[in-house]
Amino acid sequence: MSPTPAAFDSPAPSRRDFLKMAGAAAAAAAVLPRAVQAATPRRPFEVSASLYAWELHDEGVERVLDNLQGMAAVNSVYLIGVMHPERRPFREGNFPHNPARQTWMAEDARCYWQPDLKKYGRIKPRLSDNDWLNGTDWARVLADAARKRGLKFGIEQSHALVDKARAEGEFADLAQRNIHGEFTHVRDWLRPLCPNQPAVREYVQALAADVIASYDVDYFQSCMILFDESVGGRPDRGGGCFCEACKRTAREHGLDLGKIQTTLLADPTAQPALGEWQEFRYQSAARFYQTFHASVHARKRDIDVRYNLHMTNPLDWGVKLTAMQPHVDSLRIMDYTEQEGDPALMDKKRQWLNGLRKDSGRDWPMISAIGVRLKATPELISEGVQIAVETGMDGVALGHYDGATFPMLRGIRAGLVAAKVPGVRLASL
Ligand SMILES: [Zn+2]
Repeated sequence: MSPTPAAFDSPAPSRRDFLKMAGAAAAAAAVLPRAVQAATPRRPFEVSASLYAWELHDEGVERVLDNLQGMAAVNSVYLIGVMHPERRPFREGNFPHNPARQTWMAEDARCYWQPDLKKYGRIKPRLSDNDWLNGTDWARVLADAARKRGLKFGIEQSHALVDKARAEGEFADLAQRNIHGEFTHVRDWLRPLCPNQPAVREYVQALAADVIASYDVDYFQSCMILFDESVGGRPDRGGGCFCEACKRTAREHGLDLGKIQTTLLADPTAQPALGEWQEFRYQSAARFYQTFHASVHARKRDIDVRYNLHMTNPLDWGVKLTAMQPHVDSLRIMDYTEQEGDPALMDKKRQWLNGLRKDSGRDWPMISAIGVRLKATPELISEGVQIAVETGMDGVALGHYDGATFPMLRGIRAGLVAAKVPGVRLASL
């Protein structure tokens, strides 16, 4: 028996079937020549889609899932559990299929499930200010409907852990500081908390423990901005952090961050201070995920901790993928080139995916995002899916349903068919 990817047009296999398939795949791999092994899919090709609480409210979960499965062969859905403030649909235009509203301004770092507050310490999730959003457990709504259809279910923590008002107020002592000691303020809406603060680590671990206990999530997707962008990796051009917790952590690793700060204030390019500061950020981010990953897996062994690579210059954000890789189970590569509407740009996407795959080896599961909004065309979307398959990705992720026209959704399925992803037929809707 070959390791057939999960059926797209029928319920997913049971866990027992899956284990049987995985066992058969392992046995087959043991006797296959290396070249064939390399081409053997290690797990079902994933087609994931994000969903927001307000679209579940407006369109209804069953209609949303009918559309995603029927038009785009989606086999994995996740709730954006905590979203940052952002106009929806993104950038411009109106929702193409929302029957209740034309646009929506997402609130600042509100939580759209019903958190078990006993699980949290000093920092607790904050619910929506709107009764029509805070009165329903949207993770429960989506999880139950998804499971009935055999879909994978996940939750995402997006860029901001807490809202700006609380970051500048009750959690000011946990907020990141730039080289001048000010709140880090790269983006007007974002005041990131520091990943070296024990209370911040405790909060993120509690958050994952909460959604594992309540919804048994298959994956937890992190889009958290740990350190905000410093253009060119320079501390005078953006993010931090030079807070007390960072200084304490640096000392524990034999580094005098106060001295580095003084040196870089005088000359932001001074070496070895600049290199030491950059490396401290890389290692801080990696250690954050190391403890997070261990804590999450202690609660659910087979959970997938997925990191959303939301930039093309990760080093400037304190993210060194080789340092992060051991502590992250899968990677979602956030490249939405399709939405620019320019076929000439697609080769750059191919090169980016190829480079990431080459740098991190064949075994790190990678999901390529596909822009299904703005100026994207069904043809470009189909091409994006085919590029993902060609470059050895393990799945694609729609970004995002709320801005996608139906022809765009069908472009996903057309791409899967063209790339001969097993089990996918042409659009049924
Ligand atoms: Zn700090």
